[in-house]
Amino acid sequence: MWDDLARIGREASTGGYRRYAWTGADTDCRAWFREQAESRGLRNETDRNGNLWAWLGDPEAGDAVVTGSHLDSVPDGGAFDGPLGVVSAFAALDELRARGTRLTKPLAITAFGDEEGARFGVACVGSRLSAGQLTREQAHALRATDGTTLPQAMEAAGYDPDAIGPDPERLGRIGALVELHVEQGRALDLTNAPVGLASAVWPHGRWRFDFHGEANHAGTTRIEDRRDPMLPYAETVLAARREAELAGALATFGKVLVQPGGVNAIPSLVSAWLDSRAADPSSLDTVVGAVESAARDAATRSGVELDVVRESFTPLVEFGHALRDELARILGRTSNAPLPVIPSGAGHDAGILSASVPTAMLFVRNPTGISHSPAESATEDDCVAGVRALADVLEGLACA
Ligand SMILES: [Zn+2]
Repeated sequence: MWDDLARIGREASTGGYRRYAWTGADTDCRAWFREQAESRGLRNETDRNGNLWAWLGDPEAGDAVVTGSHLDSVPDGGAFDGPLGVVSAFAALDELRARGTRLTKPLAITAFGDEEGARFGVACVGSRLSAGQLTREQAHALRATDGTTLPQAMEAAGYDPDAIGPDPERLGRIGALVELHVEQGRALDLTNAPVGLASAVWPHGRWRFDFHGEANHAGTTRIEDRRDPMLPYAETVLAARREAELAGALATFGKVLVQPGGVNAIPSLVSAWLDSRAADPSSLDTVVGAVESAARDAATRSGVELDVVRESFTPLVEFGHALRDELARILGRTSNAPLPVIPSGAGHDAGILSASVPTAMLFVRNPTGISHSPAESATEDDCVAGVRALADVLEGLACA
């Protein structure tokens, strides 16, 4: 499974993955999923929002146990973020069959669409739509940097963009959803554990900063005559770092677009995206508020106009204690050491869906701690430990 999937959407020049929503690589990943499901005799289903489901047992029976993750990637992402959860789901089902486990509840393996938001700027589009946390109108207004709208991209991939929307009936069939994911930090490495359990997902969001200046010639415009938006942008990047450090939070400018983008031209517009995350909502408010006010001060000093728009936001998610305790109990039976319980600075579909259904997450150790990069990794032994843990969890939940 891993080798088949590893070929899809890999950029030879960087070694990273470019599996963006509704592109050819995404279509190939979806085909891979359906083949895996078919080869195991599972019933494939694609929901109105383009999320994939593979069913064992009758979905209508309700109280289903669901596991999976996503297959799309960030630009030049690693091999594990998302796919590890989907591959492990199929492998865990194989493990249960090898054990001869008789499931008493329906089981589904899932792959949520457009989790990373790499193309249209909003993360977890598939799960947000299903949970009613993103409306059809909002989704229809999403646009990639090349101008393609989300509906155009969906149509090009053979999906109906008018069908998207909340899916309470489908979510109502789920009794528990467990997402396995590669860890995106080093907490497990530092505690020397191959597998851990998620406590919470930090609140996080994306803010777009548009600095409007005046384009002019880089060689003939006197310094005092310039309205250069690059200057307040640069100060804002430094402010983001400073404020994040002060608050024990995180703030990153990872994407910037410059108009007109000429080496010999003062820019007319610098658009930059702030990603900020913190352990609690008030720290996040403090950081973003301070970065915005630093940006406004700097813009005023440079004669530049600033617009700030919050493009997406995910509140603090605490995974339900009942399901988390159940997982700890199940895994406590098979392991001799207590399972580390760690928070996640990254957003996940399981976090989005926790408002609608009981969700939990398992993390697999990532020795580099690096994620969203080709350096993301997990050892084969740890991946196998993750599959075993997931199989134990599914057995414990679906045979209850
Ligand atoms: Zn992920």
